[in-house]
Amino acid sequence: MAGLRTAPDPTTGLTAKRNNGLLGKIRGPYKNRIHPLQRVLSRIEMSPQGCWLFLGAQIRGYGSVPNALTSQFANRIVWEYTVGPVPDGLELDHLCRVRHCVNPTHLEPVTHKENLRRGRAFAPNPDTLRRRAQTLCKRGHPLSDPNVYLYQGHRHCLACGRLRKIKARATLKS
Ligand SMILES: [Zn+2]
Ligand SMILES: [Zn+2]
Repeated sequence: MAGLRTAPDPTTGLTAKRNNGLLGKIRGPYKNRIHPLQRVLSRIEMSPQGCWLFLGAQIRGYGSVPNALTSQFANRIVWEYTVGPVPDGLELDHLCRVRHCVNPTHLEPVTHKENLRRGRAFAPNPDTLRRRAQTLCKRGHPLSDPNVYLYQGHRHCLACGRLRKIKARATLKS
């Protein structure tokens, strides 16, 4: 009987049956209808040093949990569901220096600068570094305000965007 089905929660889109409430509200997109915290905690191993070693996928040594839209770092998931949100602009530093450890007591939110000072910051990939260092686009337009827009975390040239549009229109007409 369709009438007996629980209405989906407006914030999560989940029915009561799927989210049994044990782990609280599921925030954000997720995969396989398993709570992110559950996904992480079901795949850890305790080390003699007290580290909670994440046995799942890793991105440059950090535990990573695939998600419907993007990958999330396992340590961040555990921190957010056990301690609270990571303050804006801060990143989680591993006091134990074990990158795939997700034990929240081994983590400390610090500024990127402090993380760099400690020599433990997540190094961006070479492509990102190259793009950040770029001051001109491939046609020589300045890659700075007001000629840029952000798309997928990268700066893009507005002038080139306009040229692309004009070209597309021209080919449509011909
Ligand atoms: Zn640890
Ligand atoms: Zn350009």
